[in-house]
Amino acid sequence: MKRWSILISILLAAVLAYGTPVHAQEDMPPVYYHVDESGSASIESLIDKPPSYWQVVPGDGASFGYTSAVYWFYFELKASDHDRQLRVGYPLLDKIDAYFVQNGEVIDRIRTGDSYEFSQREVHSRNFILPVESHAATSVYLRVETTSSMRVPLSIWKPADLIADEQLLNTATGMYFGLLLCMAIYNFFSYVVTRDRRFAYYSGYIVAIGLLLAALDGTGYQYLWPWFEWLQYKAIPLFGSIVFILASLVASQILQTETRSPKLHRGLQGIMIAGGLSFIASLVLPYEMMISVILVVAILASSFLIVTGFTLWQQGLAYARIYTLALSVLLLAIIINAIGYLGFLDSFFIQRYLIMIGSAIEIMLLSLVLAIRFNEDRKERLMVEQRLNSRLEVKVKQRTAELEALMRKLKDMNQRLELKSNEDRLTRLYNRGVLDEDLPLEVRRARRTGYDIAVVMIDIDHFKKINDTLGHQAGDEVLVELARLLKVNFRRAGDRIYRYGGEEFVVLMPGAQELGCHDKVLTVTEVIRAHSFKTERGEVKLTVSVGMALLNSLPGHASSKQLLEAADNALYQAKHAGRNQIRIARSLKDVSEKP
Ligand code: GH3
Ligand code: MG
Ligand code: MG
Repeated sequence: MKRWSILISILLAAVLAYGTPVHAQEDMPPVYYHVDESGSASIESLIDKPPSYWQVVPGDGASFGYTSAVYWFYFELKASDHDRQLRVGYPLLDKIDAYFVQNGEVIDRIRTGDSYEFSQREVHSRNFILPVESHAATSVYLRVETTSSMRVPLSIWKPADLIADEQLLNTATGMYFGLLLCMAIYNFFSYVVTRDRRFAYYSGYIVAIGLLLAALDGTGYQYLWPWFEWLQYKAIPLFGSIVFILASLVASQILQTETRSPKLHRGLQGIMIAGGLSFIASLVLPYEMMISVILVVAILASSFLIVTGFTLWQQGLAYARIYTLALSVLLLAIIINAIGYLGFLDSFFIQRYLIMIGSAIEIMLLSLVLAIRFNEDRKERLMVEQRLNSRLEVKVKQRTAELEALMRKLKDMNQRLELKSNEDRLTRLYNRGVLDEDLPLEVRRARRTGYDIAVVMIDIDHFKKINDTLGHQAGDEVLVELARLLKVNFRRAGDRIYRYGGEEFVVLMPGAQELGCHDKVLTVTEVIRAHSFKTERGEVKLTVSVGMALLNSLPGHASSKQLLEAADNALYQAKHAGRNQIRIARSLKDVSEKP
């Protein structure tokens, strides 16, 4: 699996970097120490002290945890034929006074420590490197006073070997900080590109871890803030506090605790608050007060983060597993380291480099988690987008259908409206306008099909009298009633009735034959004659005159206009001949009586 291969290569790199045997240091003579609780002892008072005054330092390095006491260390250097250097391999010691004594006299004295400005050091290393001036046998006394952990790993070196060894350590340290820098920049760029805040938090977290480690390692004081003794004094609690804040922030973001587990989320917020408080406290309170608080918070916070990761892993959050693994590595390193700082463990290697290895692994794994998270979010977003899109499509279809229905309705209404405008208001028959449109069409159709078409023009006889005697209103009623009669009687398919003028009606009878058409009209005129038109002013009887023109009965190619004129002429003839009769047009000018 990919992530395991990544893990293995990290471990391999770590082993290569840290695991190679250090360059040969000289045989270290036994080191003795004495605790000077009051800090009042002077070198002169110690030179002649009997061996019983001193205690042997156990193990390969002195580690006494946090103490306010002054520690004196003492060892005998044999005579040698080459230059030698003494290295104090813990960069956080505040004050070191080294005394080189021969024959009961101090021949050389070196003062160093991280509470002095870095540029004052004789050798510019983050460790304290003290040249031994004399090749002769020398007693070396070290007075050490520090607010940090009282760790004093001493070793004697040929200068060339020390350079080689320091180079190895520098390279390893450089690799570590290089890795952190790359990761920080990479995640920052990821933030710039994606605007996903998680990347920014994570980048900040890496920077904070880097600063913390640079402080622990002495690299920070050597290169980043050599003139800033105050920061060197406060660095660990300050950067440590920032690490807590950002670690919780990153955890809450990566593990989505806000939605997945509000309880754990509140816990993480608690850590953030604790980090904020310890940051402020670190600004004002002395280091020696803050450091134990910080260590306790570190252990509690790391444990809580682990619990958070583990809980969400158990809840089935896939990447919570890698998160927990990543954090476990760091937590383990921190715990081991904290134990070391408290003085219960004195491996130089563990003390100094375990936390680097742990944090390097953690940082890379977390970056992997972040990348996975980002990818998953992206997939989720894509899915949501697709869902939204398909929902949108459905909606669009719905709306389109609604719109289409509306359009149909509108068209329907338009048609009805059109019909209304085509309608004669009083009789509800087609009006003259429609006849003007219909007639040419019907004539053309008749020509095309060969069928005949009849134009029947009907005019009420002496209608004016009805108006005059019964009133206009009654006249209207008569017109309406006559229209009804016409509708009832001309009901063959294709028959269309128009109100042509005041009391004049036209019936179009397509496909009619002369004889049948005449008979039909005759029947209708008889019906009309027999009909009693009821009005509010009494019943009315009436007759009509009719003029007819049939297309095929007219010579030549009569136009629709001529056809209508012919019918009109025929009507005029009927009127002229005494009304109440039917006339058929035989020519465009002449009108003959019905045969
Ligand atoms: P003729 O036998 O020669 O057709 O005599 P007429 O009185 O019927 O003919 P004329 O064309 O002289 O008069 C038609 C009358 O019809 C004139 C007008 O007042 C009346 N009229 C026209 N339109 C309407 C209408 O919509 N309602 C009513 N009540 N009368 C109308
Ligand atoms: Mg009339
Ligand atoms: Mg008339």
